[in-house]
Amino acid sequence: MIAAAPARPPCYDTAVTAPISLYGLSRTELETLVTGLGEPRYRSDQIWHWLYRQLCTDIDEMRNLPLGFRDRLRQLVRLHTLAETASTVSRDGAATKTLFRLADGRFVETVLMHYVDPADSPDGERDSRDGAGRHTVCLSTQAGCAMGCVFCATGQMGLERDLTAGECVEQVVHSARSLAREGSRLSNVVFMGMGEPLANWKATWATVETLVDRDGLAMGSRRLTISTVGVVPGIRRLAEARHTVRLAVSLHAPNDSLRSRLVPLNDVYPLDELMPACRYYQRRRGRRITFEYVLIDGVNDSDALARDLVRLLRGLTAHVNLIPLNPTEGSSMRPSSYDRLVAFEGVLERGGVPVTARVRRGVEIDAGCGQLRTRVAPGQVGRTLAARGREVA
Ligand code: SAH
Ligand code: SF4
Repeated sequence: MIAAAPARPPCYDTAVTAPISLYGLSRTELETLVTGLGEPRYRSDQIWHWLYRQLCTDIDEMRNLPLGFRDRLRQLVRLHTLAETASTVSRDGAATKTLFRLADGRFVETVLMHYVDPADSPDGERDSRDGAGRHTVCLSTQAGCAMGCVFCATGQMGLERDLTAGECVEQVVHSARSLAREGSRLSNVVFMGMGEPLANWKATWATVETLVDRDGLAMGSRRLTISTVGVVPGIRRLAEARHTVRLAVSLHAPNDSLRSRLVPLNDVYPLDELMPACRYYQRRRGRRITFEYVLIDGVNDSDALARDLVRLLRGLTAHVNLIPLNPTEGSSMRPSSYDRLVAFEGVLERGGVPVTARVRRGVEIDAGCGQLRTRVAPGQVGRTLAARGREVA
C-alpha cells in the first residue's frame, strides 16, 4: 500500500508562486518524498540519475520506475517549470541567449557561452581539463534585481522576485542538455545572469549543492563562480561554506564616493567592509578573487583611479576583469575607448595586478552577463534598491 504523501514536499517555498520542481529538491528532500510515497529509498537515486546523468526530459522516460509511481510523481511534482520562449545566437556563434518564461509569467534569461581560449571566460582561469574549449553557462538567480546599479539593465527593472532553486538548476540542466546533443559537456557555471545571487542565498546555495553532487552533474565546486556586487554577509558565508566556490566581486570603482554613485549597495557595505570580507574569503579558501570593473567613459577609467585600484587590491591575490560598458537604453553612459582601456590595463599591469580586458562576447544579443533584460516582456517594476540593505543577506 502506498503511504500518504507529504502534503507538501519540503522544498515548497510559500513566498514563491512556482510549482514544485523536481530540480528544486535536494537529495534528502527527494528521498523524503519517495519514502513518503511508500517507495524504497533507492528509487530516489534512480530519479536523481535520470535527472542529472540522463538529463531526461519527461517523468515518463524514467523507465525503471513503476508506472503507478510515475503517475503519482506526475501528480505531485513537475519536471519543467521553465518554458523556453526565445533563443538567440550571436553572430560568431560563441553565445546563445535563451529567454525562459517562469510559471508565474515572469521572464529570465540564461546564456551559454563557448570559449576557445578558456582564459577568455568570465572566471579567467585555465586548468588541465579545459581541452578543446569551455562551455560556460551564465545563470540568473532573480527575476530583476533590487540593487539598482546605474549601468545595469537588470538593475533598472527592480526586483520582481527571487528564483527558486528548481528554476536555477533547471537553467543549468537545459544548457547541459543542449551541449549533450552536440557531444559536449558543461565545464563551468557562473552565477552572473540576472539578479544578485547572494541576495538569494537559499536558492543559490541549494543550486551549488545540486550541481556538485557526485552522482549527478558532478561539477567540481571550483568550476562554479558566484559574482556579487558586494553583499558582505554573503561573502563571509561563502568563506565558511561546505564547498569552495569561486568568488567574483563587481567593484567598478576604487573609492566610496564614486562606487556609491555607480553601485547603491556601497552605501550599505562600503569598501572598508567589503575588502576585509574579501580578505577573509581568501584567508579561508586560498582562492584568487576576480574583481570585475566595468569601464565607463570619463567616469571610472582614469589612470589615477587605476592607481587607486592597485593600492586597494594590495595584499590580495586578485585578478581584474576589465569589461567595456555595454550601453543600456536610456542611459547617456558610454564605454571607454579602446585606448583608455589599454591605458587602464597598463597601469594595473605595471602595478603588479593581473588583468584581462574582456572581449565583448555576444554583445549584439545583449548576452553579456548582468546585462540581461528581456525586450519581449519588460518587467513590472518590483521593489527597487539596495536600501533593502542588510536585509538582503
Ligand atoms: N549581481 C551580480 C551578478 C550579475 S551582474 C553582480 O553584480 O556581480 C554580472 C556582471 O555584469 C557584473 O560584474 C556587472 O557589473 C556586469 N554588468 C552589468 N551591467 C553591465 C553593462 N551594462 N555593461 C557591462 N557589464 C555589466
Ligand atoms: Fe543587480 Fe548585478 Fe545588475 Fe547590480 S550589476 S543591478 S547587482 S544584476
